[in-house]
Amino acid sequence: MTATRWLAEYAWLPDHAEPTPDVLIETADGRITTVAPLTGGRPTAGVEVLGDAVRLPGLTLPGLANAHSHAFHRALRGRTHAGRGDFWTWRDGMYAVAQRLDPDSYLALARAAYAEMALAGVTCVGEFHYLHHGPNGTPYDDPNAMSAALVEAAAQAGIRITLLDTCYLTATVDGAPLAGPQRRFGDGDALRWAERVGAFRPENDHARVGAAIHSVRAVPVEQLATVANLADRAGVPLHVHLSEQPAENDACRAVHGCTPTRLLADHGVLGRHTTAVHATHPTSADVALLGESGTGVCLCPTTERDLADGLGPARRMVEAGSPLSLGSDSHAVVDLFEEARAVELDERLRTRRRGHFTAVDLLTAATTGGHAALGWADAGRLAVGDRADLVTVRLDTARTAGVPPVGAFFAATAADVSSVVVDGRQVVRDGVHLTVDVPTELRDAIAAVSGA
Ligand SMILES: [Zn+2]
Repeated sequence: MTATRWLAEYAWLPDHAEPTPDVLIETADGRITTVAPLTGGRPTAGVEVLGDAVRLPGLTLPGLANAHSHAFHRALRGRTHAGRGDFWTWRDGMYAVAQRLDPDSYLALARAAYAEMALAGVTCVGEFHYLHHGPNGTPYDDPNAMSAALVEAAAQAGIRITLLDTCYLTATVDGAPLAGPQRRFGDGDALRWAERVGAFRPENDHARVGAAIHSVRAVPVEQLATVANLADRAGVPLHVHLSEQPAENDACRAVHGCTPTRLLADHGVLGRHTTAVHATHPTSADVALLGESGTGVCLCPTTERDLADGLGPARRMVEAGSPLSLGSDSHAVVDLFEEARAVELDERLRTRRRGHFTAVDLLTAATTGGHAALGWADAGRLAVGDRADLVTVRLDTARTAGVPPVGAFFAATAADVSSVVVDGRQVVRDGVHLTVDVPTELRDAIAAVSGA
């Protein structure tokens, strides 16, 4: 077993209100084996010298989890801002990219997108994956070829992945069939979805498979329980887009006479292993249902602002009992620091008051909250036994100089991440990805599918 010793100038340890200076962290076989704060530069716990330790100047955090991603949306960044429009007109552009992808081009695009995430300190991604089949919905020879491409992309980018294989069967709440580009998303019914997902068993231990219901638009009410039961029996996370748009609530009320949250609750979808993504427009009763059931909420603030979705009641949902996680979703921005501070700053805009979430609340959402939502209970803390994820943020850049370490979530950006270690392996050093030329690969992969 090869051990590596790291000396963090500051490290944010579990249950600490602020970072601790001079912490020696030892890792071996992908796990943290020692966490020893030093006093006056010397070990307090009998750990000898530090000559061989890799210095990590700045603030070292646990691994950040990006709990909601659609990798191919990265190709849309900066291309959807002409004219007016809304979520639905943006979706047409997204479908145009979806139409052009195949397993090879998706591998290239996702590898570049995940490598950008690694540069931003993301050590684990939750990929909400619905682009399953070939053009016109014809399955590939390997019906999980697209899933395999995403798992391989994460391996090549050096991060972990929870592939949230998404059941997507209909176009509208009242059951209109999938049409056009959407036909690539569909498996016919939930049983056939389950059969395909059950046949996908990635062998690398950087990957796990979870389940997702695209939304109440996409899974008929009588099939919701099939998906929920499969996730429950397998003990895997279940994610669902929920009330991102008022139109989804209106359609659900018109067809089913209740809100999407109520519908999910009545069909066994909510619970501690479930994460509701967005939850931007819940009613007060919905907030209570989510909280009482322990359902998590994944906020994606930069996407929600980009798509003009609205502001979810983050503070009320936490008070009701929902743990928070964060996602970059459409990748209009890939920066978990920005997502995290938006949780607090958006609440300030709504209430015209400050101080709704502490720095530790934001850290928790970005680390343990996200990892738990993705089924990795042993990641997201700088603690002995946890996965050896170390994300170091410089405190001497133009953005962070003079900022106290506790203020990092209100000052740092993804560009300030200098070193990233995932499962004990260094993926980013001096702000550079060690195996992927991220800007070049992004440019080429996007050119190949953008149709421009
Ligand atoms: Zn999404």
